[in-house]
Amino acid sequence: MSKYIALIDCDSFFCSCERKLNPELNNKPLCVVSSERGCVIARSKEAKAMGIKMGDPLFKAVEEHPTCIYMVANHFNYLSISKQIMYILKDLSPNVEIYSIDEAFVDVTGLVKLYNRNYFQLGKYIQNKIWNEVGMPVSIGISRSKTLAKLASDRAKTTKDRVILLGKKKSYRYLQDVDISEIWGIGGRLTIRLHGFGIRTAAQFVKMPDNLLKKNFGINGLTTKYELLGNYVIPIVNNPPPPKSICDTQSFSEFTSDYDYLKNELQVHIHSACRRLRQAGCKCNKIGVIVKTKDFKCYFLDAELEHPTDFELDISKVAFKLLSYMYAPDILYRSIGILLEDFIQVENQQLNLFEDQTKKEKSEKLGRAIDKLEERFGRNIVQVGFTNKEVPNKQGFMTAPKLVY
Ligand SMILES: [Mg+2]
Repeated sequence: MSKYIALIDCDSFFCSCERKLNPELNNKPLCVVSSERGCVIARSKEAKAMGIKMGDPLFKAVEEHPTCIYMVANHFNYLSISKQIMYILKDLSPNVEIYSIDEAFVDVTGLVKLYNRNYFQLGKYIQNKIWNEVGMPVSIGISRSKTLAKLASDRAKTTKDRVILLGKKKSYRYLQDVDISEIWGIGGRLTIRLHGFGIRTAAQFVKMPDNLLKKNFGINGLTTKYELLGNYVIPIVNNPPPPKSICDTQSFSEFTSDYDYLKNELQVHIHSACRRLRQAGCKCNKIGVIVKTKDFKCYFLDAELEHPTDFELDISKVAFKLLSYMYAPDILYRSIGILLEDFIQVENQQLNLFEDQTKKEKSEKLGRAIDKLEERFGRNIVQVGFTNKEVPNKQGFMTAPKLVY
């Protein structure tokens, strides 16, 4: 029996959460921002229509669009609303994969009989149930593989029903007007590479011969092809929700301008954050470095990584560069921290077709080995090699950088 997979994706999740808690915000332009000095991390469709972009700094957005409402993110509330939705989904099917705070894959195979509806009607039923019980608008894609369900749900967002069923007959024809970059796991760089093979649409992609795909894009290229052809290849994995971001920061015991000390402290935070990332079974695509000065000025700089990673040496390389851009020798600093963002779960990483596999495996082994050593001998037993300069504290004692949990 072929599988039917639904991807349930909340619409403008953070904004919808704020509206659920405060219905006066309905139909008004609304942005959720990361902090009072942060940037836009979610937009309602009214705010999108105004031209506000994701990542716009708050001060810039307010200056250009003063009539929009800006709310500081309350992740605790969002998580509790997410849990209510996931609870409903787990009640529907035993096979649910929570993909992010606002998205889940659900195996709905056979539920049509139980609910006496066809698969499209089943999608509408789930959508209405979540709206009635939680007050959250969702878009749903249903098809025979996770890759097709993801495509259907992305496209459902712009339809009136906000539910798309890609059945057996429909899916191939559907792929003809799907740009290759729309496919789950095919990012910008892979799109460019596929353009080199003359591949622009998903329909052209699935026509590529197996041996050509395997030779150039490995087993993951083949997996994506067969998923797009409606085969259930990437299984649903029952799992707890991954965190949306990990932040690790702490104030220094005294103000300092010492660059090596800042680097040392940053490394300690990266170490701790990576450990939490690995525990959550995630890799991050984006990192940011935060520094606070003696007079409470906060500077933040972020960068996208070349490949998703949970390995601290990869992260520190980029983080140190970010720090070097922000550092000024005549400023006294009070704290430093690292922010890891834009996670993927490790089991979904198979879709990244570009990474140097040997290097990746080596990094993963080393990361796991460090975790094991620490479990056995205590934290900070392994230090990453660079200047481990010690600084005197207020009493004149020498102190090693502290590890923050
Ligand atoms: Mg969403």
